[in-house]
Amino acid sequence: MPPEVASNILIPAAVFLLGGWVGSIINGIVHSPNPGSIRRGLVLRCPNCTTPVRQALSPPFVSSILHRGKCKTCRHQLPRQYLIVELLTATVFVVIWLLFSQSPGLWAAYSLWLLCSLMIAAAYVDYDQLVIPDKITLRGIGAGFIASAIAPGLHGEFTWYNGMFSSAVGIVTGFVVLWAILIAGKILFGRINHKFSESVDFSIDQPGGEDDPILISLGPNHKYLWHEVFYRRWDKMRIAVTGLHVNGQSVAVQKEFVTVRDGFLIDGEKIELHTVSDISGKCTGALVPREALGFGNVKFVSMIGAFIGWQAVLIAILTAFGIVLPLRRFVRRKKISFSPFLAFGAFVFILFKFL
Ligand SMILES: [Zn+2]
Repeated sequence: MPPEVASNILIPAAVFLLGGWVGSIINGIVHSPNPGSIRRGLVLRCPNCTTPVRQALSPPFVSSILHRGKCKTCRHQLPRQYLIVELLTATVFVVIWLLFSQSPGLWAAYSLWLLCSLMIAAAYVDYDQLVIPDKITLRGIGAGFIASAIAPGLHGEFTWYNGMFSSAVGIVTGFVVLWAILIAGKILFGRINHKFSESVDFSIDQPGGEDDPILISLGPNHKYLWHEVFYRRWDKMRIAVTGLHVNGQSVAVQKEFVTVRDGFLIDGEKIELHTVSDISGKCTGALVPREALGFGNVKFVSMIGAFIGWQAVLIAILTAFGIVLPLRRFVRRKKISFSPFLAFGAFVFILFKFL
């Protein structure tokens, strides 16, 4: 066999399969009962009957091709994301291999495989479950620091200590910049403040009965779904009430009426949510919590800095805001995960920096 065939076709094909295999492990890691655990992620189970769809050493793409994306035991249709993540990881692996295995070299290519795998796993958990697992990002920061010593070419450096220094600068830049944005964002955009010139009616109830989501109405124009406002333990909605009825009975409020995820606080006295069938009254205003970037994004972007430096941090943040801010006008989902766009920005940086 001519050597070009091996290097131009066989090796990239093998890299594609390796990437697909890593992608299938990522599926397991995201859908394990303990997201982020690599050991538990090695086996991916059917969400319907819990038979393993794949084991640690199963080749990638098998369930998609042989079983047409169905569980072979119960014929349950498996989520389409399984195949998308396998294909995405496989493609990213091949691109990195073709661009970087010659220069800056094999160890840089391996390190970028690792970074991209960690980014895909963490961003996928964020998309799926609205959290970014520390298990992935904190270990990723450590791995990036070590990789920068082994492959200083990741930072355009030639010695292990310069590589580590650039990595440290990247970690700190990621941490400081996004943390500052996050604090500023909380202050600037953290809450929606409704003020009404006259008292308006408000109500908190399930207009369609037991199974329907709880709806909070403030005056005729402002309506909020309970689960979209209170998805964090510490989310609070303060309502400036001028009259209050709980389960049809009038209740006096001296100081404040606060709604939290699992109930209501009337002058500090807790009423559990499940004991209340309806609340209504009059109010002159309300402070509604609004989505803000989670702190997990700070560690996520530090991980990027650890592998590929502070410039990558800035490009990733700019790219992510450049996509997410316009997107928020069109997407009705209450919370848009930020980290997939950070990952995308970092990948764009990788392509341009090393091209
Ligand atoms: Zn099944």
